[in-house]
Amino acid sequence: MQSRKLIVDVLAQKEIGSTVEVKGWIRSVRNSKAFAFFVLNDGSCQKTLQIVIDADLPNFTEVTKLLIGSAVRVIGKIVESQGKGQDVEMQASTIEIVSATPEDYPLQKKATSLEFLREQSHLRVRTNLFGAIFRVRHQLAMATHEFFSSKKFFYLNSPILTTVDAEGAGEMFTVTSLKPHELKAGPDFTKDYFGKQTHLTVTGQLAGECFAHGLGAVYTFGPTFRAENSNTARHLSEFWMIEPEKAFMDLEEDAILASDYVKYLINSAFKHCSDELEALRGYHEFQAKQEKQPFTNHLEVLDAVRNSEFLQVSYTEAMQILSKSGHKFEFPTNWGDEMQTEHERYLTEVHFKQPVIVKDYPKHCKAFYMKQNEDGKSVRAMDVLVPGVGEIIGGSQREDDLDRLIQRTRELQMNETHLQWYFDLRRFGGTPHAGFGLGFERAIMYITGMKNIRDVIPFPRTPNSCEF
Ligand code: ATP
Ligand code: MN
Repeated sequence: MQSRKLIVDVLAQKEIGSTVEVKGWIRSVRNSKAFAFFVLNDGSCQKTLQIVIDADLPNFTEVTKLLIGSAVRVIGKIVESQGKGQDVEMQASTIEIVSATPEDYPLQKKATSLEFLREQSHLRVRTNLFGAIFRVRHQLAMATHEFFSSKKFFYLNSPILTTVDAEGAGEMFTVTSLKPHELKAGPDFTKDYFGKQTHLTVTGQLAGECFAHGLGAVYTFGPTFRAENSNTARHLSEFWMIEPEKAFMDLEEDAILASDYVKYLINSAFKHCSDELEALRGYHEFQAKQEKQPFTNHLEVLDAVRNSEFLQVSYTEAMQILSKSGHKFEFPTNWGDEMQTEHERYLTEVHFKQPVIVKDYPKHCKAFYMKQNEDGKSVRAMDVLVPGVGEIIGGSQREDDLDRLIQRTRELQMNETHLQWYFDLRRFGGTPHAGFGLGFERAIMYITGMKNIRDVIPFPRTPNSCEF
């Protein structure tokens, strides 16, 4: 009995002369009278295995009629490849047709637009491009656990259903078991499933703060939901966020942790996904040519980033740079104005041309829990901005001074009774602590060079679109 192998292993082991079994989907077919070639992919890697089929194969005629996308099981001998581009290929002795596509496959080899593929989101993962993206996604998830675990941050599963009005991090989805007619009557949430209004979480931070004060350091990595009506190329209604939180940590250490993490992600992709990154580079180069745009190799840019320190500027300095830039912005750039996406992108893409950490934002621009600076105007917040994406991380040192925290919630007229537990965290063994949130899809965009966030999540959810 021959053993079944994944193509990734066949290509790595190169066991010339051995007989193995592989299963996968046909990527392309080349036929001639005497023999035929299949290019087979099974998802295990970016590379494909060439299958050589001689005319004396019993079902040669049937097999050569197969169309792209068909599933097959092949048994054959591993031989040295005659062609270029691969070291080994397989000489087929048996081909079993698992399923034959009945008509032209909807994803033909010719460049298919991303918009079209988004409508085919059940099939798009079978393309070269999306195979690459989603293997990179997997690697970055593994790297996330490696990175934080090695630094003794414990993996925390924060709740998805929550009744905490989390700091207005974003618009929330309500979760209810009330019937449509009960909702129509003006909902009485005391009669709802949990007895009060319940939402899908917009952040795991508050759970992180609790657990950081027992385990020392934790990180969450889970789905996050925001009902924001921003139909942009960088926002999803459902996305994944990684949120480390650590007791006895200030903003300086937080900024180092954030940049080390981003560099670790890049290094991990370079180390484990070189074929995928190369395929992505090829895609972007092709795309730039099609659109007659200049091509920049995003891998070279990433390579430089992993060996450099992230620049840090204060919000005040950043606004001055923008004001003096001579560039015409849609939104104003005076001290106290919100830093808009156009500003963020100008800073990281035009001015600095590298990742930059902006710190010490005006307090009214940021959430109530951020630690106030001595100046009374700004808070210990940081955003990490990267070229091509803009904000990838938002973080802060949290207010550990209970009196100041209470005073701030009063200024903002927040409901204090709902926050008693949060105050308790300061009352009983509170520490200076800090953390951040990295949008997982934004990080994947950055590392794959993809320009639309919908292309880096399996099934994107955006306003008016929740397919599958
Ligand atoms: P933005 O200003 O880009 O809308 P934000 O300031 O609202 O982001 P935070 O509340 O700081 O975002 O969330 C932390 C991180 O989560 C962000 O830095 C970003 O990487 C990611 N993120 C936030 N909102 C979304 C979204 N709708 N879709 C995907 N990622 C998001
Ligand atoms: Mn933010």
